[in-house]
Amino acid sequence: MSDATSHEIDHFMKGLMKRNPGEPEFHQAVHEVVETLIPFILSNRVYKDAQILERMTEPDRVVIFRVCWEDDSGNIRTNRAWRVQFNNSIGPYKGGIRFHPNVTLSVLKFLGFEQTFKNSLTGLPMGGGKGGSNFNPKGKSDREIMRFCQSLMIELHRHIGEDTDVPAGDIGVGSREISYMFGQYKRLENRFSGILTGKGLSFGGSLVRTEATGYGCAYFCENMLNHIEDSLVDKICSISGSGNVALYAVEKAIELGAKVVTLSDSDGFVHVPNGINLEMLAFIKELKTVRRGRIHEFANHYKGVDFYAGKRPWNVPCDIAFPCATQNEINRADSQELINNGVKAVVEGANMPTNLDGIHEFRHAKVILAPAKAANAGGVAVSGLEQSQNALRLSWSREEVDQRLKSIMLEIHSKCVQHSHKYEDYTDYITGANIAGFTKVADAMLAYGIV
Ligand code: NDP
Repeated sequence: MSDATSHEIDHFMKGLMKRNPGEPEFHQAVHEVVETLIPFILSNRVYKDAQILERMTEPDRVVIFRVCWEDDSGNIRTNRAWRVQFNNSIGPYKGGIRFHPNVTLSVLKFLGFEQTFKNSLTGLPMGGGKGGSNFNPKGKSDREIMRFCQSLMIELHRHIGEDTDVPAGDIGVGSREISYMFGQYKRLENRFSGILTGKGLSFGGSLVRTEATGYGCAYFCENMLNHIEDSLVDKICSISGSGNVALYAVEKAIELGAKVVTLSDSDGFVHVPNGINLEMLAFIKELKTVRRGRIHEFANHYKGVDFYAGKRPWNVPCDIAFPCATQNEINRADSQELINNGVKAVVEGANMPTNLDGIHEFRHAKVILAPAKAANAGGVAVSGLEQSQNALRLSWSREEVDQRLKSIMLEIHSKCVQHSHKYEDYTDYITGANIAGFTKVADAMLAYGIV
């Protein structure tokens, strides 16, 4: 990188940090993008002259509101919620809602910023947004979850709509929460409309939406391996998390011939040296989605499965790592451990799971890295297909949706390769995804003039 380019990156980041103090996750997400985007913008002056990057790092608006609700003991509880409407240049805002105690404005701005690029990569007409609350769903009864979701929607309903902003699920928000929020929206507005995705199948949901993010990750991984004349067959995969993304990444990776040896939750990770089989996967799905239990209960149930409390799975040797839990779960030491153990590829199922040091280590060691905005775009892509089905008032078959998901993931892979830096034996997917995602949004913004 030339001195002029690194000066430009430093200058841009200093300004951004000054304008957005105390938002480390947002700074990190922008830094990862500008490292690869600023060289491109400097050689395409039209974007620089129109200050597109400055405008793209400023959300269109942020709504912040109080959510009051009553717990089962009759206590009044207060949480804070946000909706970050980041950029609607290429379509209505679209992005999930997260319920987790560590949700802050910084986390939601990082997610909304990333979402803008991701949605652009899908080729569907969707802008970027993200929302959530610092509400902790763990240990809450169904009724408490319902009352919280209903109270949140009393404010949120004013800001969303099928042509305005269409939220979906994320960490802590699955089909139960989406159903409670949709039911409340319908009651408040007296209209049945596709204002949320991830809905139940009997009220406007799409087949394959539940599986889409995890399946999409495995499809993207297979595309990357095919690109270097390899495949997932017999690959040892280490997966973190045991939520929506992780479980369906396991399912598809097994189907494509891989052996998955780890899963985790915030208590620790499980190691299954012989690989997770379909019976085990059914047990874990029931444990996590019906009983809402902990991953160590899986280790207690099966002989030969070990549980490591308080640890992440990255010291287990593997060919492919799929971080599918949360942000910053792979740091420099984790990436070095994975590299020393011979990892060939990293596929980001979670958003921003690898920190900047980790990214630099992988790039230096020429480990191919599929960034989240490309690898986990399958979820929002099928959400986009759910919106299309709602607008058409019909439902496509499982095969049709799955086929469309596969084609979209293949298309995203091609865009990344097309825009990546070309090295003899290495494709830099991060650069490819950033430039491809940026260009479509930036060109729309140029066309609109100064807005
Ligand atoms: P879930 O809530 O279904 O599962 C999250 C998993 O990650 C759980 O196993 C959870 O463990 C673990 N986890 C969460 N926070 C932490 C933490 N701080 N430390 C350790 N483990 C943690 O969420 P999803 O599977 O939906 O989302 C996972 C990731 O994928 C997120 O980054 C999300 O933004 C991203 N994503 C999700 C999409 C979707 O369609 N759902 C689409 C695109 C991206 P525990 O239960 O103990 O908290």
